[in-house]
Amino acid sequence: MNKKFVIAIDGPAASGKSTTAKQLAGKLKYIYIDTGAMYRASALCTLLQNMSLNDEAALNNMLNEISIKIEYAKDGNRIYLNGKDVSERIREADITKLSSQIAVIRIVREKMVELQRKIGEDGGVIMDGRDIGTVVFPNADFKFFMIADVKTRALRRWKEAKEKSEIISIGEIEKELIWRDENDSNREISPLKQADDAIPIDTSKMSIDEQVQFIYNKIK
Ligand code: C5P
Repeated sequence: MNKKFVIAIDGPAASGKSTTAKQLAGKLKYIYIDTGAMYRASALCTLLQNMSLNDEAALNNMLNEISIKIEYAKDGNRIYLNGKDVSERIREADITKLSSQIAVIRIVREKMVELQRKIGEDGGVIMDGRDIGTVVFPNADFKFFMIADVKTRALRRWKEAKEKSEIISIGEIEKELIWRDENDSNREISPLKQADDAIPIDTSKMSIDEQVQFIYNKIK
């Protein structure tokens, strides 16, 4: 495979996108970009600067100044916000919610899309998110849309939380996932939706290896 493709993977939270994309990127020697981490980093930035999401002028300034860097590491990318490693902080519950709230704002999305297009312009990239196949790279070489039933997704997140010794119930996780999916699907700008030409994958009963292999076979 000499041509360096752009591969878009979209879908709701915890549908298996990032784990699959990460492994696939390793297999293909591609760069993996978790665009959710970029929205999370922007959300954290507003929090650190004590900024209201309604203050468009302040948001604009913040976006003009912001530096989000992704360092590619074998055991997962590291995310730097204005020079500081925020990889763990952006996974916490307050930022998870705030990222979905900030992601409805047009100027935020415009900035993130601009950065994402720059990263992906030379191909050889797997990008996961909500609007990659519909907005960021509508001409992506491959588009996939991953889904899974909400119980399965909640269980996955609960297991991840348990590994990190976080105490949270499956019910709470399920509620958060449902809220976020609704917020992401019903926003006006770039809502979460399957691109017409995306290949759907229901991962509810698939192992990670099966998900990776499924996409790999399509690309081959
Ligand atoms: O993928 P992740 O769950 O980390 O994304 C966090 C939030 O960022 C999502 O709930 C969504 O609101 C937003 N997001 C987005 N567009 C993307 C990626 C993430 O709106 N391409």
